[in-house]
Amino acid sequence: MTARVLVVDDILSNVKLLEAKLTAEYFEVVTAYSGQEALERIEEHEPDIVLLDVMMPGMDGFEVCRRIKHNPKTAHVPVVMVTALDQPSDRVAGLEAGADDFLTKPVDDAALFARVRSLVRLKLMMDELRMREATGQNMGLVDPADSLIEDNLSGRILIIEDRPESVAWFKAALSPPHEISAVDAFEEAVVRVRGGDYDLIVVSLGLRGFDGLRLCSQLRSLPEGRNVPILVVVSDGERRKLNQALEMGVNDYLSRPVDRNELVARVRTQLRKKRYADRLRHNVQLSLEMAITDQLTGLHNRRYMSRHLDTLIVSARKSGKPIAFLIMDIDFFKSVNDSYGHDIGDEVLREFASRISANVRGIDLACRYGGEEFVVVMPDTDMAFACAVAERLRKSVEVNPFPVSRDPGRLNVTVSIGIAGSEGNNDSAEALLHRADQALYRAKREGRNRVIADAA
Ligand code: GH3
Ligand code: MG
Ligand code: MG
Repeated sequence: MTARVLVVDDILSNVKLLEAKLTAEYFEVVTAYSGQEALERIEEHEPDIVLLDVMMPGMDGFEVCRRIKHNPKTAHVPVVMVTALDQPSDRVAGLEAGADDFLTKPVDDAALFARVRSLVRLKLMMDELRMREATGQNMGLVDPADSLIEDNLSGRILIIEDRPESVAWFKAALSPPHEISAVDAFEEAVVRVRGGDYDLIVVSLGLRGFDGLRLCSQLRSLPEGRNVPILVVVSDGERRKLNQALEMGVNDYLSRPVDRNELVARVRTQLRKKRYADRLRHNVQLSLEMAITDQLTGLHNRRYMSRHLDTLIVSARKSGKPIAFLIMDIDFFKSVNDSYGHDIGDEVLREFASRISANVRGIDLACRYGGEEFVVVMPDTDMAFACAVAERLRKSVEVNPFPVSRDPGRLNVTVSIGIAGSEGNNDSAEALLHRADQALYRAKREGRNRVIADAA
């Protein structure tokens, strides 16, 4: 992994030492010698992570961190406070300022690289999501206000710990506002995470009954556990374990004896991050769905259909099963627009789409192909069956007038349908489409309101 690191310290030798260590591991290093310079560098160089000294003349590290986290342009950049002090009160002050992590001077190499890698990995993933979300916003698919984070943070937290007194202490410290449950056995922990909708998992690495690290790795591999942050609790003698834990993607840690304020602050940070990531994922999902959906009818759009048809044809070729392809075009639709207005035309299109949906199976792919043309791709379907479906649909359109919201209240509509089936190994999506189109053209020419199957 390569990433750009901003190193901030007022003492030249401290900067040079970190720069040398990071450069040796192929990180790109940018440096700053004061708080003010740090703020300039961060806008100019867009680092992936900031290593920030706490005690500096002028603006101290806490203030720099606060400013980074309050600037929407830089708030997403992870900040690690590098401090000579190792007091819980400093850690809490740093967390309050929005710091993502701490390193104590003199900086231990293993801890440095584990921290930097784990935070950078997280940031790169979030960058990707933020980029996709921005595209969604530019396309008007996602409301930017949706991305704002609300501050009312309470979460469902699972504590994995086998010392009853410790469990009781965690519960007292976190509940309320959080909802706490606890387990003390490996299998039960896995079952809970599989079934539960947790916002955070706290794992003690000093469990008596089983290996907490192995559990973390297992939880990370579960689909239900992949996006749930894990906070581990370690004792002093467990440095190696801690580094392994951070390497496998554990999000944060606390050292025993656990300081209550630090616990509360770290839990809040993790919940805030998770909520942000969930929101991003949701918005990305939403814009993906919208990108493949026709906005007027809710059916798939043409772009999606074309892509998916290629996949279906390849799979049909492999399985030797037939595919049927229906293309439908509303008859004299232009006169609906001309006589009743474009908005009534839209209503007719929507009603037609819902009649298509009602007449096809779940595995069939219904799409608005453009204008007043619609397509249904039917996997594993022979021509006889496709003709029956098309005829049923044609009839349902003909005999049941379409309800519209203005006079005359109901409109008579008819549709013409062309059908083609896939043929043998060398058939392509394009050829299939072309044959269906030819059949549709014949249906129109022979008088409309009819189904014509490609004769081949
Ligand atoms: P034919 O029986 O030969 O299919 O005649 P037609 O009038 O249906 O065919 P034509 O292709 O000439 O007209 C299609 C019309 O569909 C023209 C266009 O204005 C209208 N149209 C295309 N997209 C939309 C839409 O999203 N909403 C509405 N209301 N009309 C649309
Ligand atoms: Mg038409
Ligand atoms: Mg047309």
